Amino acid sequence: MNMQMKEISGKVLEAGVVGAGGAGFPTHVKLSAQAEIVIVNGAECEPLLKTDQQLAARYPDLLVKGLTLAMASTGAQKGIIALKAKYKEAIAALEPYIRNTEGIEIAIMPDIYPAGDEVMTIWLTTGRRVPPGGIPINIGVVVNNVQTLINVAKAQEGISVTTRTLTVTGAVKKPITVTVPIGTPLREVLDLAGGEEADLAYINGGPMMGKLISDLSDTVTKTTGGLIGLPRDHMLIQRKESSVEGILRIAKTVCEQCSFCTDLCPRHMIGHELSPHLLIRAVNYKNLAELSLLATALTCSECGVCEAYACPVGISPLRVNVALKAELRSQGIKYQGELGKADPMAQHRLIPSSRLMDRLRLRSFYKDAPLAGEVYEGKEVRIKLQQHIGAPAAAVVKEGDVVEAGQRIGEIPSGALGANIHASISGTVTQVTPQAITIRKGGAAR
Ligand code: SF4
Ligand code: SF4
Repeated sequence: MNMQMKEISGKVLEAGVVGAGGAGFPTHVKLSAQAEIVIVNGAECEPLLKTDQQLAARYPDLLVKGLTLAMASTGAQKGIIALKAKYKEAIAALEPYIRNTEGIEIAIMPDIYPAGDEVMTIWLTTGRRVPPGGIPINIGVVVNNVQTLINVAKAQEGISVTTRTLTVTGAVKKPITVTVPIGTPLREVLDLAGGEEADLAYINGGPMMGKLISDLSDTVTKTTGGLIGLPRDHMLIQRKESSVEGILRIAKTVCEQCSFCTDLCPRHMIGHELSPHLLIRAVNYKNLAELSLLATALTCSECGVCEAYACPVGISPLRVNVALKAELRSQGIKYQGELGKADPMAQHRLIPSSRLMDRLRLRSFYKDAPLAGEVYEGKEVRIKLQQHIGAPAAAVVKEGDVVEAGQRIGEIPSGALGANIHASISGTVTQVTPQAITIRKGGAAR
């Protein structure tokens, strides 16, 4: 690694940047690899979410700067900003910045789900295919989302990750996209969109891959993807509430082995061995299943196409895969398999976002959620020490300490994979637990 690379990834490490679009992989590790291509994943393919498209339109300079830095750090000669044609404002805002920037181009992806699954983003924009069980760098590619690269650009100015921008939408009173300090309670974020309503249930993230929220006092992290309110009797809420035992029971009784789930599985389409209909058959007749077949569940991206779109009888191969993954991982089993041939019909099997939205009965909730200009600031934040893949950060402050916004309050344990954590507001540390640090604005009164 040369000096420039070291300096860029060092500042990214110090600022606590993690992948904002996924599980929070520490970005300084990604930027320490050698790559040929860096892709900005601006697909934002989850129906209803409107964060990245608005950030790209509002901060094109920072996004291009973040991409340029990521290219310099990885040695990549090519940068691709992957967007959809409908993100017209983002495209118009970015064009002047890339016109004279060598090696960077905008790639327009089809408006399909899941264009934002990084394996699919890579295939759609470069034709390269990540092998099953592999990661993008195996084929010379690094993928970062919009918010991550904006944070990379800020990190070079010494600005740490202290805020998160997210869309609050669905059946809420006033859909909005807001920027809040990390550690803000979800209930306060909801107040910015008109407040909590008794007949709604809430999803953290997008409708397809987000998780049901059981407690609105939980707080925003660096990876909180969105906050969606839907009626409690909405099919998506019902589905997320259903038990895996119930799903396995339905699978046993009504799976007709039509294989629609496999035909439409994005990973299967690009040549991965994963075949959800075979996994359903395998769990239905467990004693006939080979371990090598069961292990293909480990390559499932959990995109939800099989349960939400493909299966005609309401089975969720996704949930079966999630249960299988947990079992296989607990036994230390890994997937070992080769990349096969891509489906020659793949381009014709991709699912248009609008059709998915109709199938999920989300059309009436598809509304503007304008990006607020101001950063919200509440009275108290509870900042989790584990907001990323790897080891939790170790607290370096104690109760009663007075901290400034941006000050490092949690560090990566020595020799571990992880990310630094910073105070998101100025105030007094009122509690430190193994899970989180609470900061109250101003004095120490509780
Ligand atoms: S969730 Fe279903 S469709 Fe998506 S990758 Fe997994 S098996 Fe395939
Ligand atoms: S689509 Fe549904 S019914 Fe058909 S094979 Fe898959 S799980 Fe079974």
